[in-house]
Amino acid sequence: MIPFLDLKKINNQYRDELVEACARVIDSGWYIQGNECKEFESNFANYCGSKYAVGVANGLDALILILRAYKEMGIMSDGDEVIVPSNTYIASILAITQNSLVPILVEPDINTYLIDANKIEKKITPKTKAIMPVHLYGQTCEMDKINSIAKKYNLKVIEDSAQAHGAYFKDNRAGNLGDASGFSFYPGKNLGALGDGGIVTTSDKELAETVRALGNYGSHKKYENLYKGINSRLDEMQAAMLGVKLKYLDNEIKNRKEIAMYYLENIKNSSIVLPTVRKEDNHVWHVFVIRSSDRTKLQKHLLKYDIQTLIHYPIPPHKQEAYSEWSNEQYPISEQIHDEVLSLPISGVQTMEDTKKVVDAINEYK
Ligand SMILES: *Cc1c(COP(=O)(O)O)cnc(C)c1O
Repeated sequence: MIPFLDLKKINNQYRDELVEACARVIDSGWYIQGNECKEFESNFANYCGSKYAVGVANGLDALILILRAYKEMGIMSDGDEVIVPSNTYIASILAITQNSLVPILVEPDINTYLIDANKIEKKITPKTKAIMPVHLYGQTCEMDKINSIAKKYNLKVIEDSAQAHGAYFKDNRAGNLGDASGFSFYPGKNLGALGDGGIVTTSDKELAETVRALGNYGSHKKYENLYKGINSRLDEMQAAMLGVKLKYLDNEIKNRKEIAMYYLENIKNSSIVLPTVRKEDNHVWHVFVIRSSDRTKLQKHLLKYDIQTLIHYPIPPHKQEAYSEWSNEQYPISEQIHDEVLSLPISGVQTMEDTKKVVDAINEYK
């Protein structure tokens, strides 16, 4: 079987170092909010080019806490609108509605699958307070256009960078392309913990401090509570695991790029639509997504060759039961994408032999 993603093999590359880091945490006797987290936050902020990074429990909380902090800072209030792509993973939308804010869905570009920057301005109202571009599949959005719209209308730009650790737009990396950014360290992400984890990056000191307090019961100072906060922290064990893996992230990305380039150059089948890459270093290939008008048939064909594929994602947010209030709305580009996409195996440990097998199987598909 060619697995979609072999997490065991990925983490096994660093086994000795991970075990050593694990032992260091056990022996430290300090498991929450200690030096491991502090050090990782500082290294990750450096990696992204942001001034601050605040570890949190997961990627969803990272996005929730950014919006919540803007509310506490008086920048947003209940009922305000946040522009977000209509084809994103549900977590981007949940972060908005959990804060009693209103998601305004904007269709993606059919070629890049990223929010169509040319369609944003039409959706801006006096209630709009932020744009949340999602660097979906690992490719950064058109941040020059998005930031200039945000500037014109005085909006915050909150990146959902959960799939784009290390991706560039021009000279800056995801995490340093807007006012604030939320990352996930879910095990399957390009930088994955051995459990849940997330982080907020920003260069806004007040925002960083507010997020930190909100994730720690709303407390800036022990036993003094400024806000009605939550408990959402990056624990020492996960921070230590991530500290090991961050050193190898660029190498992981390099391997993913090689596989992606091989797919792009060698998949030759007129019934398959390959992904469009704006610029090579804009994409870190969290997933390699192709489109086919009969995805189920293609998926079955690949399974016959022992090739595992996944779908990111089968149902668009506006068709989810949880958001039944949108069930009559139409987002035809998103619907087409959700109907046709299929993600091929890709990872830093996938062999060229397996990559070639995937290409051959797709080229044989009729
Ligand atoms: C994974 C993901 C999230 C949520 O991250 P978790 O750590 O799983 O909570 C948010 N947005 C996008 C685009 C994601 O892919």
